[in-house]
Amino acid sequence: MTTAPDDRFAELRAPAHWQAVDFISDLHLHPGEPDTVRAWLSYLQRPPAQRADALFILGDLFEVWVGDDVLDDPRSFASECAAALKEHGRDTPTYFLCGNRDFLLGETALAACGMRGLSDPTVLVFQQRRWLLSHGDELCTDDRDYLQFRAQVRSPDWQAAFLSQPLATREAVARDLRQRSEAHKRSLAHAPELWADVDAGAARTWLTSARADTLIHGHTHRPATHDLGTGLQRVVLSDWDASAHPPRLQRLRLSASGLERQSLA
Ligand code: MN
Repeated sequence: MTTAPDDRFAELRAPAHWQAVDFISDLHLHPGEPDTVRAWLSYLQRPPAQRADALFILGDLFEVWVGDDVLDDPRSFASECAAALKEHGRDTPTYFLCGNRDFLLGETALAACGMRGLSDPTVLVFQQRRWLLSHGDELCTDDRDYLQFRAQVRSPDWQAAFLSQPLATREAVARDLRQRSEAHKRSLAHAPELWADVDAGAARTWLTSARADTLIHGHTHRPATHDLGTGLQRVVLSDWDASAHPPRLQRLRLSASGLERQSLA
């Protein structure tokens, strides 16, 4: 892997008055998982005094996003979620970096949700430290098939062609991809050693280029803190599933006292 030039790392400087920020990812919101949706809505709807100063959503907020025109129907699931995000964003700045499920969420939807888009990766400069934020899928370098698929679907040509299809067609494609992904997950359920994971070397390269010591990412659904050596670390967010035993509803809070995982269950 070649060393990425420093300019690939966008930078966001936190305002001086921010005391704490929350990170969440991989909620995979879907009308078929109403308990998780409810838990997320009550998290958003806490009184502003109980919230952090900003919320960072590091991808896969939605299980699927087939185009911003899903918001044309004010009664759609996406529109309901957008309204809740917009309300939350009135008091709490909300940042969104897309994942491998919701990478088609565009400017129209960002505005409807009251969210500010971040490029992946982005360096958050908070309390004199640099925190590298990513969804994490691009760092799973062993999964060559996926990286090839990723390069294809992130190209403007592919996206323009996909988005030019009727909504019903796009929804059918998404259902098909989701079913295949579920089948793939089931086939690997008993072989965790085969699950794609972030490559430690790739993570170190990014961190060094970004002049950061901590990478915060989601995607792998394997919440943990990994020591990468030489003062570098990788902090993995949990996915959300209110129906799991015990429920997984976790945020990561960053404040002057450091990083802290908090369960909302
Ligand atoms: Mn993901």
